[in-house]
Amino acid sequence: MNKHTIASIVAEEILDSRGDPTIRTTVILGDGQRASADVPAGASTGTHEAHELRDGEARYRGKGVRKAASHVKTTINEALQGMAVEEQAAIDRTMVELDGTPNRSRLGANAILSVSLACARAAAMAERMPLYRYLQQRYRLKPPPVFPRPMCNVLNGGLHADNNLSWQEYHILAHGQNFAEQIERTWRVMQRLKDLLRQRHDRTLVGDEGGFAPRLKSNEEGLKLLATATTESELRLGDDVEFGLDVAADEFYSSRSGTYRLSPDNRELDPKSLIDLYEQLAKIYPLKTLEDGLSEDDWENWAVLTKRLGKQVMIIGDDLFVTQPERLSQGIRAHAANAILVKPNQVGTLTETMETMAIARDDGYEIVVSHRSGETSDDFIADLAVAVGSRFLKAGSLMRGERLAKYNRLLTIAAEIGA
Ligand code: PGA
Ligand code: ZN
Repeated sequence: MNKHTIASIVAEEILDSRGDPTIRTTVILGDGQRASADVPAGASTGTHEAHELRDGEARYRGKGVRKAASHVKTTINEALQGMAVEEQAAIDRTMVELDGTPNRSRLGANAILSVSLACARAAAMAERMPLYRYLQQRYRLKPPPVFPRPMCNVLNGGLHADNNLSWQEYHILAHGQNFAEQIERTWRVMQRLKDLLRQRHDRTLVGDEGGFAPRLKSNEEGLKLLATATTESELRLGDDVEFGLDVAADEFYSSRSGTYRLSPDNRELDPKSLIDLYEQLAKIYPLKTLEDGLSEDDWENWAVLTKRLGKQVMIIGDDLFVTQPERLSQGIRAHAANAILVKPNQVGTLTETMETMAIARDDGYEIVVSHRSGETSDDFIADLAVAVGSRFLKAGSLMRGERLAKYNRLLTIAAEIGA
């Protein structure tokens, strides 16, 4: 590969899909080429995530990111000027050392990640390669045996909607001969679901990730609706369409009582009873994935859950692992899960994100690359998912532009490589 020098790095405060400030960073190369990256933001964030730096001042109710943008334009810019943009590991290491804190709280993980991703994109551009192919080459990844399937969030609850559901996300996981067919089948089920909600005079307004946000009688009722929508779309449960859940358990967990409070079910369950409930649901519905089924530090019960359901269901750690190599290694030792959700902004650099995924691959963990609930039209994660052979791309529903940006990018890549 040729080397291309970083001439300068600029950044500005932009707004994300919730209207909250976030960072856009642009890397300018010596020959004038430029590439940008935007950083997403979570709402149901894990306690152990890298630190997102916010201004804490009156503007934007404290959510401004001018300080983080200023770190990019001054400290980071000065340190990286003149470096070869292809030297991703050295770039990321320099930023981590400049920051000097364990959780990136001085410069901000949002500042660091925006530079890290913009550099990768600039390097791909300079090499005249699509980003996914550049990443495969840069990290010497074998051509992956799988193309990501859509993990499409069609019902929103928890912190992502103003309805009464405790569980945060209900996913449609469609099979199909190729990615385009998987998307069309997902769309069919989603439209049928909308009809069903209309017939019941439920709300068809959508939540943060573009899924419908109705008020239901129980969390299980969401799965029932998905099952009806599937069969009424002339699709088979299991063979054509599987389901996924991200319950985001920490949001309805009480550490004081050690129990999970389910609304609107009006039930309070201890970890064992919650696992019983999941097991029961997996017998009734074609449940393929279960994310954050338990609280983020309950390694022991995660192991119980994985032992009981792991053969049949992908037990995915999101808040549990927060994309960090150490947390994943701890989980592997504890047999806590069998899959990891990957969100680059939970750890802060592309290098560390890749490191975590290498550990996952070595230990036979499935990978699911994911968006955040606060997004922009940046589609970096679509290329990342293709490059690493992520089992699914989790990018919300088939509504809202910032969600479609990712699925549309996958449609383009799929057409390009015949997937
Ligand atoms: P978040 O939600 O981006 O609000 O954390 C997504 C998820 O929990 O997977
Ligand atoms: Zn999650």
